[in-house]
Amino acid sequence: MTKAPSPRTRKVRVLATLGPASSTPEMIEKLFLAGADAFRVNMSHGDQQSKVAVIEAIRGLEKKLGRPSTILADLQGPKLRVGRFDGGRAMLETGTIFVLDRDSTPGDATRVELPHREIFEAIEPAARLLLDDGKLVLRVIEHDDARIVTRVEVGGALSNNKGLNVPDVVVPMAALTDKDRSDLAFAIDQGVDWIALSFVQRPEDLAEARRLIQGKASLLAKIEKPAAIDRLEEIVEMCDGVMVARGDLGVELPPERVPPLQKRIVEVARRMGRPVVVATQMLESMITSPSPTRAEVSDVATAVYDGADAIMLSAESAAGAWPVESVAMMDSIADAVERDPAHGDRVHFTALKPDPTTADALSEAAKTIASTVSASAIICFTSSGSTARRVARERPSVPILMLTPRMDTARRAGILWGTYAVHTRDVNSFEDMVAKAKRMALRHHMAQAGDRVIIIAGVPFKTPGSTNVIHVVRIIGDELKNHEG
Ligand code: PGA
Ligand code: MN
Repeated sequence: MTKAPSPRTRKVRVLATLGPASSTPEMIEKLFLAGADAFRVNMSHGDQQSKVAVIEAIRGLEKKLGRPSTILADLQGPKLRVGRFDGGRAMLETGTIFVLDRDSTPGDATRVELPHREIFEAIEPAARLLLDDGKLVLRVIEHDDARIVTRVEVGGALSNNKGLNVPDVVVPMAALTDKDRSDLAFAIDQGVDWIALSFVQRPEDLAEARRLIQGKASLLAKIEKPAAIDRLEEIVEMCDGVMVARGDLGVELPPERVPPLQKRIVEVARRMGRPVVVATQMLESMITSPSPTRAEVSDVATAVYDGADAIMLSAESAAGAWPVESVAMMDSIADAVERDPAHGDRVHFTALKPDPTTADALSEAAKTIASTVSASAIICFTSSGSTARRVARERPSVPILMLTPRMDTARRAGILWGTYAVHTRDVNSFEDMVAKAKRMALRHHMAQAGDRVIIIAGVPFKTPGSTNVIHVVRIIGDELKNHEG
């Protein structure tokens, strides 16, 4: 095991999507060292076999650096996509007729396959078909159960398997397609930490996924459908984390509705204590350019000021020309925002009341004590991770050091605000707890001799859900002498 890099002081997490530009062990390590805290494996692209080596590389890095790694497998969901083109792409001219049909022969400038039977039944005349995140617009003229004839209202180049949105009609599709079920089983088998569900429309969609996951991973709901906005609270309640999936959300709804919704989704998720990821087009221009636009920098900063748990890179890190630079840029922006003396106040603009539970009472107290006595860290002994999640919900001014005997808990914490997870043996006594907390704080550079730290734990030890102790302690030095576990 090589020495782990010193821990990040950054609170917001960076979630980097892996893809053709970033799938080798060398690149994954570079992304990690540049600031990626968690990795997204997108099941929409490539086959299952191609993900095996990527997942292996992430876990290989975990072993090499001695740091828990976090893998989120993102299921495609009922995303509609066109078929393939002769030569990989076609140029659709504005004003011409373009037909979507059920014929799998490669398409051209006049037609292409649409491999989703449901649409041919649900579509209506005059409805819009938005292609490639809304870059191209088709208007339906007429249709039957095998052909949809459209006029190209906004033309452009269209390449293989580009996405299709039908915002004007409700397409009755299952939340989990056959592909999703297969990908979910594969991802669980590969031991991923999070499963993301796309195009969630109803809380029931999550119940179905939950049943299939059987507790083997945490479940993240991607908010990208108007229907999900209508039942946001119920959906957030049903999942372990959420994503503001601005790409599809801004196609299903007018893009100007996305910023207010982003603020609302982040607030609801924070209130309910679910980690929330802000995603898509954050540094879009860095797909082809080594530096971002000022507007993109400002967008990333806004998500950090809003107190999102994580900010995500998509094609920037997966398929762009500057994956490492994109991660490094996000890291720098987040760092600059978090150094702003006004950052704390802005993050706490979202006022949160503790739930009437012991865990929340202690979490809130920990935050207050940390600032009153200028403590260096809040150290959480936790099995399921729920205590650390409640502490993170408070958005304290100091890092949260999560000590857990469960590797799955440590890994899942990779998208949680301000939390640095360490997988370590459980403690047996109060003395043991205090000694270990001090030792770990020093070893992981969360505190120095002379500093105070705050410890949160549950007594009796080894009893999940028993969080009931808060202890403030000063580290006097020499704590590293006792070197076991
Ligand atoms: P996707 O999800 O990248 O899987 O489409 C994110 C989004 O829609 O914003
Ligand atoms: Mn999407």
